[in-house]
Amino acid sequence: MQTLTVELPDRHYPIHVGPGLLDDASLLTPHLGGRQVMIVTNETVAPLYLERLKATLTGFEVHEVILPDGEATKNLEHVERIWDGLLAAGFNRRATLIALGGGVTGDMTGFAAASYQRGIAFIQIPTTLLAQVDSSVGGKTGVNHPRGKNMIGAFHQPRAVIVDTDTLRTLPARELTAGLAEVIKYGLIRDEAFMTWLEDNMAGLRALDASLLTEAILKSCAVKAEIVVEDETEQGVRAHLNLGHTFGHAIETAMGYGNWLHGEAVGAGMMMATALSHRLGWLDEAAVMRVSALLDAAGLPRHAPAQVSAERFLELMHLDKKVMDARLRLVLLKALGEACITDDVDEAQVHELLEHWER
Ligand code: NAD
Ligand code: MG
Repeated sequence: MQTLTVELPDRHYPIHVGPGLLDDASLLTPHLGGRQVMIVTNETVAPLYLERLKATLTGFEVHEVILPDGEATKNLEHVERIWDGLLAAGFNRRATLIALGGGVTGDMTGFAAASYQRGIAFIQIPTTLLAQVDSSVGGKTGVNHPRGKNMIGAFHQPRAVIVDTDTLRTLPARELTAGLAEVIKYGLIRDEAFMTWLEDNMAGLRALDASLLTEAILKSCAVKAEIVVEDETEQGVRAHLNLGHTFGHAIETAMGYGNWLHGEAVGAGMMMATALSHRLGWLDEAAVMRVSALLDAAGLPRHAPAQVSAERFLELMHLDKKVMDARLRLVLLKALGEACITDDVDEAQVHELLEHWER
């Protein structure tokens, strides 16, 4: 097991990563506010891991809320089910919520914790790679609104994040690959050495080697935590976390949500951002080849879907919430391991890139 401590202005919390951690009571119990514990999970994850987690919590007053699966359930109606469960159990402000599942479960549980009796403790036990390297770090919690994703929410930091790498053994391969897109992103935006490490170890990661997974997850969390601490108000460097996302969101929207997983769209989007950085003279051909090979090794798509025209693509990119005013604002790469934000890209160049993109 390895541990990363996230330093916040007023306190700190641990991210423990390693195999078999679900069974380790000593990692959990120091962070429980009192005897009352509510586990929130979903119909897919509950049969896999709920009983084990409950066994780890022997001696506590443990209740559970099992929600249906899917992004479509990330709404207030299902947060209300968590609040209902807490009230029905008679839980007070010293109760602790535990999120056991992917990013959908974590975001909703965190929001329920932020709002129940004006805020109670919560612990993240993320079970998808995406949740382990992305959504469980940074303190963003919330739900979708019919008019937009993640429109309702709050910042609420967990007391601890416990990543049991063994849980990835049951994760569908496609979900694992989608999570790898965000892992690769951290290398591209911040750390060329990590990118090189990923090039050397991608096969082992996909084969779920526990020590390689531990290393990759810890490093990813460290990069995200560093960026979040540097830029809590999201004025600057936090935008680097959106590398590939403006292109990616356009793909997700064009294809209809759910047809391309978020990470898959981000993979193709990072390839596009890389190619554009090359056109601007910032990256050489060899760098482009490295990014392409790494995405391919992870099993990610590198091409935008054929049916989306360059015009439609640009239109959708303008709709993306990260685009300010009329100008496209993009996260690109000055070098491998060094992201930058620019609103100074000639749109004709983006159009040309999209037009000639191999589909
Ligand atoms: P998800 O939670 O829907 O999980 C993906 C699928 O895997 C689901 O069907 C889930 O039931 C299943 N699953 C989870 N763990 C499993 C396991 N160990 N074995 C088998 N199946 C398992 O999706 P996700 O990709 O984890 O998260 C996406 C969500 O995260 C989105 O709602 C997104 O907005 C949010 N997100 C939040 C942040 C943040 O900062 N809070 C950052 C990035 C993404
Ligand atoms: Mg993302």
